[in-house]
Parts: sequence; structure tokens; C-alpha cells
Amino acid sequence: MTRLLFREDAYLREADATVLGHTAEGGILVDASIFYATGGGQPGDSGCLLWEGRRLPIATTLKHGAEVALVPAEPLEMPPVGGTVRQVLDWDRRHRHMRMHTALHLLSVVIPLPVTGGQIGAERGRLDFDMPEPPEDLAALDEALNALIDSDLPVTESWITDEELLANPGLVKTMSVMPPTGQGRVRLVRIGEGAGQIDLQPCGGTHVARTSEIGQVEIAKIEKKGRQNRRVSLTLLG
Ligand SMILES: [Zn+2]
Repeated sequence: MTRLLFREDAYLREADATVLGHTAEGGILVDASIFYATGGGQPGDSGCLLWEGRRLPIATTLKHGAEVALVPAEPLEMPPVGGTVRQVLDWDRRHRHMRMHTALHLLSVVIPLPVTGGQIGAERGRLDFDMPEPPEDLAALDEALNALIDSDLPVTESWITDEELLANPGLVKTMSVMPPTGQGRVRLVRIGEGAGQIDLQPCGGTHVARTSEIGQVEIAKIEKKGRQNRRVSLTLLG
């Protein structure tokens, strides 16, 4: 089983790991990962592994059962099973994912409609909403979103049991993606605190610590997707 270091501290850029094995698809299984594994609309991390004077670029990261598999970008020599590797994250890319991911939580606050899907990218991200009519005032949405960012709200987490989540279905904003249960507990991500809390939802992704770290964003476009749905795309301006 892989220890998810990215979940314990989203700001870790380097850490050691022991190689647990190689997958049939050419992935490297590690006992502890700072590389986020693709999931919840957030892409897997890239970076490189260093050991004994060797350097192996990592293109992406995937879940592999209870373990995390780092996928090499090139068919170079693999680190040996049982050996220690230094993981180095492509921090610029990951930090943009963290900024965009947190911005999408805020988007779901300024557009309080059910979310039917989403995707995070380093330049652009999107949420699909159950939104039969287009919003009347796009400039006002942009303004509200950037005001929340400027408010410098803390982003924190807590954990609840599967039973508590099932007893509070209102916590889940996504109609299509129920957060994974079955591990006994579910992670909740909270924006703001106490009376100033503006959002609380189950999420396993990586987020910035405070909303001001997102920087300015812009709603790039709103597209109609089917009869009921609209896709809202966000761009990081900085
Ligand atoms: Zn999230």
C-alpha cells in the first residue's frame, strides 16, 4: 500500500521512496508518493526520479489498486525493486493544478447548481453544471469569484466516516461522481472557517492553503452541453 504524501502535505516537492515493484504496463510502484495519482478530474503529476546518478523522467501517475504507479516518460532503465529513489515533482505544473482545483471549488460556490462533471488543467479548468438557462451576468460571476479569491480564505480538511457521508447527501455537489467510500472514511475540504465557511465538499485532490494563492481568474467561456448542461471554463490569468 502506498502512503499518499501529497494528501498529507500538498506542498512537498521532493521526498524519498522505496520501489515496491514494476507493473506489467511499465509503471513503478512506490511505498510513498508525492506524485498525485490521476483521479477526480485532476491529472496525475509529472517530474523525475533520481537514484545512483540516474535520472528517469516521470510523465504521469496512476492508481494501481492500493498503490501508486509512476509512469516513465521514456523507456529508460527502471530503478530496482527494493531500492530507494528520490522523487522530484514538476512543481510549477502541480501548483497550477492546485490553484485551478481550488478555483473550481469557488466556482461551485458562485454558481450554486449541481455539478455533473469537471476537469482540471494547468492553463484551463472546467465544471459542467445542471444549468438549463445561461447566467444573466457573466461579469458579476467573474467579480464574485475573484472577490472570494481576494478574501484570502483558509482551505482546510477534515475526515468523516462513510456512514456520516451517506447520512448527509447534501455534502456532495457532483451528481455523477460519488466520492469513493469503502475505506471507512472520507476527506472533506473546507473553504473559510466558522461563520465564514463558504464551501465544504468531499474531495481527494490537492488544493492551495489559502484562496489568495490562486491569483486572478477569468471565466473564459460557457458552452451548452446537451439540453440541461452547461460547461463553464476558467482560465488562470497569472
Ligand atoms: Zn478539491
